[in-house]
Amino acid sequence: AGRPLEGKVVLVTGASSGIGRETALALSRVGARVAIGARRTDRLAALVDAAPGDILPLELDVTDPESVQRAVSESVARFGRLDALVNNAGLMQSGLIVGADVREWRSMIDTNLLGSMYAVHAALPHLLESKGAVVQVSSTAARSASLGSGVYAATKFGISAFSESLRQEVTRRGVRVIVIQPGFVDTELTSHITDTTMQAAAAGIAASMRTLRPEDIAEAIVYALSQPEHVSVNEILVRPTDQV
Ligand code: NDP
Repeated sequence: AGRPLEGKVVLVTGASSGIGRETALALSRVGARVAIGARRTDRLAALVDAAPGDILPLELDVTDPESVQRAVSESVARFGRLDALVNNAGLMQSGLIVGADVREWRSMIDTNLLGSMYAVHAALPHLLESKGAVVQVSSTAARSASLGSGVYAATKFGISAFSESLRQEVTRRGVRVIVIQPGFVDTELTSHITDTTMQAAAAGIAASMRTLRPEDIAEAIVYALSQPEHVSVNEILVRPTDQV
């Protein structure tokens, strides 16, 4: 039980920081062979050195379907199979709707929503073969939107819709769909917010509570992926105890 994922092959998107990085490390510690994708390849190289197991760094931009296809192909070429996709790459640029820079909306939709769909599309043939799993790193923002999070929440609500449809399509063929919904996790996510009021609000939330650490979410992902094949953990909601 110490190494429940021995030999399994997992592709983690957005593995250069935060939840993705800690998930790749946690998976590596329980025996998985891990392909790690992101744009910041220097960060991936450092992760290769930190991980105990077999790990493959891949330059990946999830907004580009060809880049996604290439990352999946290279993972399978290197490890011979694919047992799980951890769809984690994401971007949050909170702000009001009035006066927003709509390029930020497009970036969030391209990354969080379309990017995760491209990854499912590219990985699915291999996951059907291995009877594998898709882990969608979603958010509490998929359950309720809040002021200033309209577009981010729209991407995460969209992931819920896509994931449920995916589940109905593939569950009887043995592929499990797992949606993780974290509350506030201390990562670099808020560093991309350009609206100074929203940036300050995020910093205030972080300072006001014991936030989750990326490791806490990595644990939930390892748990879900370690279940026997007939058990499909479809949803995990994890909030900081201090978060209302
Ligand atoms: P980070 O900013 O630390 O990590 C985001 C990761 O996504 C980075 O590795 C980044 O890598 C990657 N990424 C962003 N854009 C792309 C892209 N176009 N192609 C490939 N990779 C990309 O934040 P988190 O760890 O917090 O975020 C991970 C996920 O967790 C996101 O989906 C986020 O929405 C979700 N989440 C986070 C919460 C939080 O409070 N932090 C709460 C709920 C959900 P690079 O820039 O190198 O490409």
